[in-house]
Amino acid sequence: MNLHEYQGKSILASYGVRVQRGHVANNAEEAVEKAKQLTAETGTGWHVIKAQIHAGGRGKGGGVKLAKNLDQVREIAGQIIGMDLITPQTPPTGKRVHKVLVAEDVYYPGESETKEFYMSVLLNRGTGRNMIMYSTEGGMDIEEVAEHTPDKIFTEEIDPAYGLQGFQARRIAFNLGLSGEAFKEMTKFVDALYKAYIGSDSSMFEINPVLKTSDNKIMAVDAKVTLDDNALYRHADLAEMRDITEERPIEVEAKEAGLNYVDLDGTVGCMVNGAGLAMATMDLIKYAGFEPANFLDVGGTADAKRVETAFRIILKDPNVKAILINIFGGIVRCDRVAQGVVDAYKNMGDAIKVPIIVRLQGTNAEVAKELIDNSGMPILSAVQFQEAADQVKAALS
Ligand code: GDP
Ligand code: MN
Repeated sequence: MNLHEYQGKSILASYGVRVQRGHVANNAEEAVEKAKQLTAETGTGWHVIKAQIHAGGRGKGGGVKLAKNLDQVREIAGQIIGMDLITPQTPPTGKRVHKVLVAEDVYYPGESETKEFYMSVLLNRGTGRNMIMYSTEGGMDIEEVAEHTPDKIFTEEIDPAYGLQGFQARRIAFNLGLSGEAFKEMTKFVDALYKAYIGSDSSMFEINPVLKTSDNKIMAVDAKVTLDDNALYRHADLAEMRDITEERPIEVEAKEAGLNYVDLDGTVGCMVNGAGLAMATMDLIKYAGFEPANFLDVGGTADAKRVETAFRIILKDPNVKAILINIFGGIVRCDRVAQGVVDAYKNMGDAIKVPIIVRLQGTNAEVAKELIDNSGMPILSAVQFQEAADQVKAALS
């Protein structure tokens, strides 16, 4: 589950990570009020107005702007709230901005220069250990840094038995070229950041930039936090941070129905049980020369009701030109699934206007095929993988 910057920062702050402070506003007038409040709390004169959407690269798209007085706060917040912000990470039409974060300006001049670093905490699946990835090249696209100057990216792996060690935090501060007060600040920052990552059961933190201020404080200016969905049950307070307006409506509906659904760009809808078979089925569709319209795992219980829900969700996508059902009947018997498909088809009347190809394998597969062939419904049945692929091809040519 992804969070907004302001939510991520509130988690970090609760673990003692220094963050650029700010308050959320839903409209221009509220932004002015929040700016005044922030000035009273922090003494800041300038404010940064930051669009809150689930995507990075907001600065480049015009979603992060500096306001030097309250009139500018009002004007900029008014511009940003309600805009469709387009960044390299949003869909081409952008994402509607509903809220802004009114933050203190932390790039003020002082005794030393400000510096931007990159830091993320994530799981290295190769070694099964968490790691801290960091770079002197902050504020820019880390993918670019990885491509052009990979030697500027460092990693620190953490032994789960010992946790983050003091020498590791010091090595990070050293590799970032820090000394004196900023060095000490960085070791504290890293330590608190890692505690926040573990404590919140996150699967990714990306802090870009981590800022060294002109008075040698280290703080998170941005926060991209992804929580592990499987651990949300033990973080009721964090689960409440979910913002479904940021998620695709069709995926939200599928989740509520207990289906594992990911919307894709192709024309062949898939209904499959088991993630592995779903992946193989998508390969099959590509092999036949087409693109899958979705990933859909109906899970263990492919009964009529579930199949019908899956049908309805797949058919909401106007690009779908055919549906391939590929179910392995292990615990669930194929004939029950076949009955489910036939019943769902009947229930849906003429809602289904595209060809349906069903491949059932496993327990009672023959009975299932007969059931479909004798149903009187225009449903095509297949036994072999190849046969199903050929039928998809025939249906779409
Ligand atoms: P992103 O573009 O979505 O990654 O949003 P960020 O939160 O990283 O902000 C983008 C950029 O805005 C940063 O890299 C900074 O250069 C700039 N920025 C953020 N906070 C401040 C601030 O307090 N003052 C000034 N002058 N610039 C800021
Ligand atoms: Mn950023």
